[in-house]
Amino acid sequence: MPGAKSVTVIGGGLAGISAACALADAGCRVQLLERRPYLGGRASSYEHPGTGEVIDNCQHVLIGCCTALIDLYRRLDATDSIRWYDRFTFLAPGTKPTVIAPGSLPAPFHSSLSFLRAPAFSIADKLAIASGLSMFLRGLPPDTPEDFAHWLRRHGQTRRAIDRFWKPVLVSALNEDLDRISVHYAAKVFRESFLLSPQAGRMGIPAVPLSQLYGRAIDYLRARNSEVCLRTSITGIAPTGSGWLVSSSDRSFTSDAVILALSFEAMAALLPAMPHNAASEELAAHLAQFEHSPITGIHLWFDREITTLDHAVLLDTTIQWMFNKSRLQPAHRGSEASYLELVVSASKSLVSVSRQQIVDLAMRELTWFFPAVASASLLKSAVVKEVRATYSIRPELDRIRPSPASPWPGIFLAGDWTATGWPATMEGAARSGYDAAEALSRSLGDPRHFTIPELPPTGLMRLFSAS
Ligand SMILES: Cc1cc2nc3c(=O)[nH]c(=O)nc-3n(C[C@H](O)[C@H](O)[C@H](O)COP(=O)(O)OP(=O)(O)OC[C@H]3O[C@@H](n4cnc5c(N)ncnc54)[C@H](O)[C@@H]3O)c2cc1C
Repeated sequence: MPGAKSVTVIGGGLAGISAACALADAGCRVQLLERRPYLGGRASSYEHPGTGEVIDNCQHVLIGCCTALIDLYRRLDATDSIRWYDRFTFLAPGTKPTVIAPGSLPAPFHSSLSFLRAPAFSIADKLAIASGLSMFLRGLPPDTPEDFAHWLRRHGQTRRAIDRFWKPVLVSALNEDLDRISVHYAAKVFRESFLLSPQAGRMGIPAVPLSQLYGRAIDYLRARNSEVCLRTSITGIAPTGSGWLVSSSDRSFTSDAVILALSFEAMAALLPAMPHNAASEELAAHLAQFEHSPITGIHLWFDREITTLDHAVLLDTTIQWMFNKSRLQPAHRGSEASYLELVVSASKSLVSVSRQQIVDLAMRELTWFFPAVASASLLKSAVVKEVRATYSIRPELDRIRPSPASPWPGIFLAGDWTATGWPATMEGAARSGYDAAEALSRSLGDPRHFTIPELPPTGLMRLFSAS
């Protein structure tokens, strides 16, 4: 980059890490400042005080079309830390397992044979689902005031198709109830997971704790003349004349440019400590319109193996996903005991329920799927309620999601809530970091591209997408 500029990146989540790594690689001197003692933000791991175990704040998964995130793993030399799966097991009490997996047919029909055999659905359900998915073959519908629950009713979906297909996939992917989800973003999930290509729809699961995965950024940045300051909470930002002065309680940082890579609520909290202008007032008004949705993770350690499945979608229950961490993370393998993590997305109904009641509920529901639970001893448990997990991707929220340009010259915005075309995900955050890095470079006269193209359609999807 011309003149090797200095950049302060505030926030060490996926957005800040991506921006910092891209800019350091391009020759900038970067200071990455993070309030917590580790990197990763909402995708991190820590030693749980009650159990002494290192746990992820919640199981995080990606899909094959998360191209910016996969590019970040490439930069961090972490691609080997992701295990990929293209078989999805759906379990319903009293029904044989449904396995959805790609076969030999070209996209968008690659999973149709397994879908035709799926015991979880009747013929009427399958016809309804196929007809609903066909609406997304040519592309994504525009973001209108309609919510996805309304769209499903308008397109004649059966009760079981909604309860066992549309809802479990979408609530897990977008962490919101169907009547609060934009049709545009719902369509994006289904088009990319089920239609675009087998590669786009496969699921990636980190094989190491999240802070270990994203902590690799520390060495990456230090090797590129840059600095990472943990336990550094920023309290104010002021202009210096030629750049910006960023202050924490015990230290100040100066730089030519700044990237604010915060969650929407942290951005709103910092705004009063930044220069005030008409655009910052508008940003504050927009930030006030974002809303949170919670996710609950239930961690259970048993004295024996409960299942040989690595993961499964659980239907007709409160628990939505089972992740068998003993099989997914090598660090948890090698003993008779086993460690499962259960995830409940959009878990509003659990927020005020006690942790013990949540564990009891999980144990009851698990026995419906895995009889071994009934005779196993539960050694320890942890319940992590992330009340501010993600923002709700409501209809027309895109109208107020900002671009990287901020109300202040030389300051750029990143974070999963900015206008990336993606919902609140690790990919949205990584993409926002690259977008902010690119906007910053351009402002310095460097036309370099950091943004990563989306995956192209394959098979017959090329024809549908072109028509
Ligand atoms: C429980 C849960 C489950 C999820 N599951 C998935 C999943 O399976 N797949 C997926 O793709 N996404 C998932 N997500 C969403 C994903 O984690 C987020 O979208 C993404 O991590 C957001 O990254 P970010 O960098 O935009 O924001 P954040 O991760 O919030 O990063 C912002 C950082 O700024 C720091 N900060 C805040 N204020 C200050 C300050 N004043 N000074 C310095 N630092 C500050 C914070 O500590 C934080 O580290 C999940 C999220 C949660 C919470």
